[in-house]
Amino acid sequence: KLPGLGKIGGKQYFNVGFKQTEEEVIILFQSDSLETSVENFVCNISNDGLSMHVDFISHKQSLSYFIKLHKQVKASISIVKREVIEIALKKAEPGSLWDGFGSCKHTQPFKNRLLSCTLISKSNITHDTLQLHFRLPESCHMLTPMGAHVFFQASIEDILIRRPYTVALPCITESTCANDPNNFYTLIKVYETGALTKVIGNLSPGDEISVATFEIKFHIGLISSFSNILLLAAGTGFTPMVRVMHHCLFNTDKKVQLGFFNKKELDILWRNDLKTLKARFYSRFTVDHVLSQPDQDWSGLKGRVSIPLLKEMLSNFQIDTTFVLVCGPTPFTTLTLKFLSDMKVKSSSVFAFT
Ligand code: FAD
Ligand code: NAD
Repeated sequence: KLPGLGKIGGKQYFNVGFKQTEEEVIILFQSDSLETSVENFVCNISNDGLSMHVDFISHKQSLSYFIKLHKQVKASISIVKREVIEIALKKAEPGSLWDGFGSCKHTQPFKNRLLSCTLISKSNITHDTLQLHFRLPESCHMLTPMGAHVFFQASIEDILIRRPYTVALPCITESTCANDPNNFYTLIKVYETGALTKVIGNLSPGDEISVATFEIKFHIGLISSFSNILLLAAGTGFTPMVRVMHHCLFNTDKKVQLGFFNKKELDILWRNDLKTLKARFYSRFTVDHVLSQPDQDWSGLKGRVSIPLLKEMLSNFQIDTTFVLVCGPTPFTTLTLKFLSDMKVKSSSVFAFT
């Protein structure tokens, strides 16, 4: 058990303790019952450096803690997981030991804490879809789990509009592509008549936008025992697949097949990068592009999702060892889930991002 404080808030929660040097105070979170990773923790130091919010967010539950610090810290945080989660804070006045770290109380779960994020860069990856790189405030630490989405919000003509956007990756072709605790990347399609995407599309580097902390329904443990992964993505429904696909290819020996449904060739996100990945992982990665409004010279698959098409895609894999991920416009997802069910694919081997 940790030195310092005992359990806070009941048996399923965390033990909280601390250790320190003259420069740093490290707050420790340990749980006997919750699976924890650095990605599940979002930390925010207050402007005066005298307190901190810690939100634990997982696919099962959210927990929030308020830590009143013994003395002031600087606005920078690092978190690592060793035996336990360690949240390291730099003392504003280094050179002495604190009597304790302060106090910690369990509060009502605080969903979607707002962070003011700065746009660092934006680039077009297709005619209508942008890749956007955002930076979080220095006083905040947030490393989102795979498949999670944050919420962007803006007040438009006095109406608050908030929409979810998946945290993707800076690129897919390198093993080192990753988000870090102060930066995240999104792929956002700008709709001509879209209330929020018009605002997002008009942001310039240096502009700030309110981003609420992430939500997560997916859990990587769902797919860990399967050797084949079928990704069925339509349009920007590819975004939650990006990190799963990258993880499976670079960190596992799973076979991955992407069935990518778009209207036209020019709508295909990261088409050349997918080609590069295909060449690199030729024995374990295949991509089928399916276009619903192809130009005349398109010789690939055409139409929308259908049972024959799904049978064809699944024919490369043994059904018992295959996990299927689905995401796209709601009618696409509904139809795909129905077809998979009609094909007797077990619901426990299917997950839809909705
Ligand atoms: P709205 O003002 O809501 O709509 C205006 C017009 O835009 C509509 O008439 C329609 O033509 C078009 N439109 C709006 N919403 C949709 C829609 N959902 N599907 C198709 N056409 C639409 N989008 C991304 O680009 N990248 C992401 O990473 C991403 N992640 C998401 C994660 C989740 C969990 C969910 C539920 C959605 C995600 N979306 C993502 C979609 C996003 O949340 C918005 O729905 C979308 O950006 C449109 O918002 P808007 O305010 O611009 O458009
Ligand atoms: P889009 O309009 O460009 O359509 C892409 C493809 O979806 C089409 O080519 C077609 O094959 C298929 N499709 C569209 N309507 C269909 C229908 N009625 N029946 C069967 N198939 C159909 O797509 P878009 O504008 O890129 O929109 C992507 C969608 O994905 C949005 O609705 C967005 O909200 C959703 N999305 C969800 C998440 C999530 O995590 N839940 C994440 C990202 C995107």
